[in-house]
Amino acid sequence: MAESRDTCPFCSIDPKRWIASSDAAIAFLDGFPIAEHHTLVIPQRHVASLFDLDVSEQAEVWRLASEVRHRLADEFGIEAFNIGVNDGVPAGQTVLHAHVHVIPRVTGDSDDPRGGIRWVIPDKARYW
Ligand code: 5GP
Ligand code: ZN
Repeated sequence: MAESRDTCPFCSIDPKRWIASSDAAIAFLDGFPIAEHHTLVIPQRHVASLFDLDVSEQAEVWRLASEVRHRLADEFGIEAFNIGVNDGVPAGQTVLHAHVHVIPRVTGDSDDPRGGIRWVIPDKARYW
């Protein structure tokens, strides 16, 4: 699903919905959250992969992800997170504007959370 800046859902997010921002990065709530406070951190620049960014932009995306993670921990007492990047369509990326998912996790939100992001390939997740 190729997306230009003109049709990209993230490039058109209303700045009023940004929960944090800097010159190079923006954070906002995921529109179809899998957990309460599920947040996306994106570069300001429309690129498909985080690895299309220069190193200073990548650093700013991760700095903002860190800020979001600490804020969610401090404000809501969240103690665990899945922090994830779907980098490329075969890896599950559906919006081709690079983004980091910050997904809060709480005890009991799944029967057995062991493995976390290993469950992107369910048949191989369980090694224990
Ligand atoms: P991906 O599958 O590309 O890693 O994740 C894309 C994410 O973008 C999904 O979690 C989806 O819920 C979120 N999303 C898709 N469209 C919109 C939108 O228009 N607004 C917001 N806030 N999130 C969106
Ligand atoms: Zn975009």
